[in-house]
Amino acid sequence: MGQGEDGWFTERDDDEGIGLTLRVRRKLHEEQTPYQRIEVYETTSWGRLLVLDGYVMLTSRDNFTYHEMMAHPVLFTHPHPRRVVIIGGGDCGMLREVMKHPGVEECVQVDIDEGVTRAAERWFPELCSANDDPRAHLLFEDGIEYVRRLEPGSVDVMIVDSTDPVGPAVGLFGKDFMASVHRALAGDGLMVQQSESPILHLDSLLRDVRTAMRDGGFARVVTLQFPVVGYPSGWWSATMAGKGGDLTRFRESDAGARAFTTRYYNCATHRAALAVPEFCRELLTDQ
Ligand code: SAM
Repeated sequence: MGQGEDGWFTERDDDEGIGLTLRVRRKLHEEQTPYQRIEVYETTSWGRLLVLDGYVMLTSRDNFTYHEMMAHPVLFTHPHPRRVVIIGGGDCGMLREVMKHPGVEECVQVDIDEGVTRAAERWFPELCSANDDPRAHLLFEDGIEYVRRLEPGSVDVMIVDSTDPVGPAVGLFGKDFMASVHRALAGDGLMVQQSESPILHLDSLLRDVRTAMRDGGFARVVTLQFPVVGYPSGWWSATMAGKGGDLTRFRESDAGARAFTTRYYNCATHRAALAVPEFCRELLTDQ
C-alpha cells in the first residue's frame, strides 16, 4: 500500500481482493507518531488525502458523507443532545458537524494521537473550523481509559470515530468498551460507531460490533448504511445503540428545519440509511 512510482496512492484489501487508488501529485506531509504513520497527499481530483498507517482516512472531496452520516442521524435521534463525546475523530471533521447543533452545550473530543489533529489543522483547516468553539474541548489520550473514568449517566451522545480495529483502536470494538460506554450514557443516551462495510464485513466486523454492543448492555442496535467513496467498496455503515426506544424514529421536524447546511444529510437520506437490503435482513433484523 502507499504511493507507487506511477503517481497513484493505492490502498489494497488483500483479504477481500479489492482496493482503492487515487492519483496523487505529491506527498505533502509524513510523520511517524508514537501511535501511527501520518501521511498527507495532494491528489489530482480529490483534494487532499489523509492516510494513517497506509489506510485512507478521508479526502477533501468526499469526507462530508461520512462525517455527516456519523453525526446527524444520532443527534437527531436523541431527544435533546447536550453533552457529546467523540472518541477518535482527530481530523476534527466530526467535531465540526456536532458543533452545528445549537442545543449541544459541550463536546469533548478524545483522540489518542495529537499528531493527527496538528496535521489536520495544517492540511485540512476546513475540517477544524469548529475547534475554537467554546463548547469544544480537545483531549489527547486513550479513549478507552477516558470513557472508563466518566461519571455514570453523564453523556447524552457518544460518537466513536476511530480507525479500524488495529493497534490502539482494537479495544474500541470490544464488549468491555461498549459496557463502559453504556455506563457513561444517560438513560436516553445513544452511541454510534463506524462499523465498516455491509458488503465486505457483514459476517465479520459489522456482526461483531453489533454483538459487542448487545453484550455491553445495549437493548437497541440499528445500523445505518451510506456511501463513502474513499473506504473499501465505497459502501459503509455506522451502528447506533441505545438503552431502549425505537432508534428508527428521529426528530424529523427538527432535522427538516435545521438551520445549518449539509451536503448529504437530510430527512430522506436519514430514512434511506435505515433501510435494510435483503442480503442484510437476517443479521440486521432487530432494527
Ligand atoms: N473516519 C476514519 C475511519 O473510519 O477509519 C477515522 C478517522 S479518525 C482520524 C480515527 C482516529 O482514531 C485517529 O486519529 C486515531 O488516532 C484515533 N484512535 C485510535 N485508537 C484510539 C483510542 N484508543 N483512543 C482515542 N483515539 C483513538
